[in-house]
Amino acid sequence: MKVIIIGAGMGGLSAGIALRRFGHEVEVFEQAVEIRPVGAAISLWSNGVKCLNYLGLEKQLAALGGDMASMAYVDGLNGHTMTQFSLAPLVDAVGQRPYPVSRADLQAMLMREFGLDRIRLGMRMVEVRDDGAQVTAVFADGTTAQGDLLIGADGAHSLVRSYILGQPVERRYAGYVNWNGLVAIDEAIAPATQWTTFVGEGKRVSVMPVADGRFYFFFDAPLPKGLPNERATYKENLREYFRGWAAPVQRLIDQIDEQTTNRIEIHDIDPFNTWTRGRVALLGDAAHNTTPDIGQGGGSAMEDAIVLATALQTHTQGIEDALQRYVKRRVERAGELVLRARKRSDITHGIDPQAMQAWYDELRAEDGSRIIRGLASTIEGGPLG
Ligand SMILES: Cc1cc2nc3c(=O)[nH]c(=O)nc-3n(C[C@H](O)[C@H](O)[C@H](O)COP(=O)(O)OP(=O)(O)OC[C@H]3O[C@@H](n4cnc5c(N)ncnc54)[C@H](O)[C@@H]3O)c2cc1C
Repeated sequence: MKVIIIGAGMGGLSAGIALRRFGHEVEVFEQAVEIRPVGAAISLWSNGVKCLNYLGLEKQLAALGGDMASMAYVDGLNGHTMTQFSLAPLVDAVGQRPYPVSRADLQAMLMREFGLDRIRLGMRMVEVRDDGAQVTAVFADGTTAQGDLLIGADGAHSLVRSYILGQPVERRYAGYVNWNGLVAIDEAIAPATQWTTFVGEGKRVSVMPVADGRFYFFFDAPLPKGLPNERATYKENLREYFRGWAAPVQRLIDQIDEQTTNRIEIHDIDPFNTWTRGRVALLGDAAHNTTPDIGQGGGSAMEDAIVLATALQTHTQGIEDALQRYVKRRVERAGELVLRARKRSDITHGIDPQAMQAWYDELRAEDGSRIIRGLASTIEGGPLG
């Protein structure tokens, strides 16, 4: 079977690797000439890690993963620890460590494993045609590619999604802005092997370890949409938004490099169930665009990849039928994760101030077991258990 994938993000590449493992001829078309992921790193929770392990990438991924042994919430204003606990019980419960990983490292590894010679960069898809036997992708340069099926892994602004739904979809602003990047690990900010999150005033500052002695950091703050995005003022803006916060937060702001920091207005999309039309299907953010509040967007894309490749491999009633079975197995979980992340986002960012205060109070009473139960249940809800 010849498969065309639009988009060389973590979803498209994971699907490409899975489909090649099953012997299909796969080509990935990517609009960017050079891929620069939006965001410095991600926390890949164990459900996502299991998907890549399943594809035989266990060692490659482990080499990129940071050593995240514990987790803590800290009151951002006075620097007092609200809760701090080991993540070992989580790993025992689900049978796999989570990995914070640099996006550039993950992207490079997935591209290499898929096959650099099968990724066509600088190819912006502008139209999809499906005649019932073959799908054709038309590119901005006027060239075309044909396959037995086409996978739209073209991200949050997906054009393939517009083709499937017959219209573009409006994204919803979640009400906050995120800045993220990498800095050298500094124990004056937080312990080296801990995922530490400072919270207060509906804002967050977080650091977690990735490979090579670096912290992935992010800041987020509830703000109106459309404020000026000027790199040269990132530090000044963060100093203002986090004025009066504890010394480790000020130290982190001092250490960030504005040139490599990303600033993103966070959006999501209401869950929808139509992910396939004929021989065309969606995967990853194109199908379920979530806020990052439970860190499951990338893991969900990898889950899609495994279920899609398996559905095509195990069913013999035609491509359209297999694609529908893939969607049936994925929509409920993916949609539920989007809504759960939205709810968490609203609590964290003080959309309902009482709910936010109740969460801060819960954190002060937390011994880790409730958070670990929640994480384990999300992880084990994935296709690989
Ligand atoms: C601030 C932030 C933090 C996050 N943190 C986490 C986290 O901790 N854990 C986690 O699991 N997830 C996290 N996520 C979510 C995660 O980044 C996404 O879910 C994931 O990147 C989706 O992968 P994808 O392959 O579906 O889409 P993308 O990575 O967006 O890739 C889509 C690709 O398609 C290409 N493309 C688009 N249109 C076309 C076209 N017309 N023709 C050709 N190519 C095209 C794009 O250039 C892009 O390369 C976070 C997201 C954000 C914004």
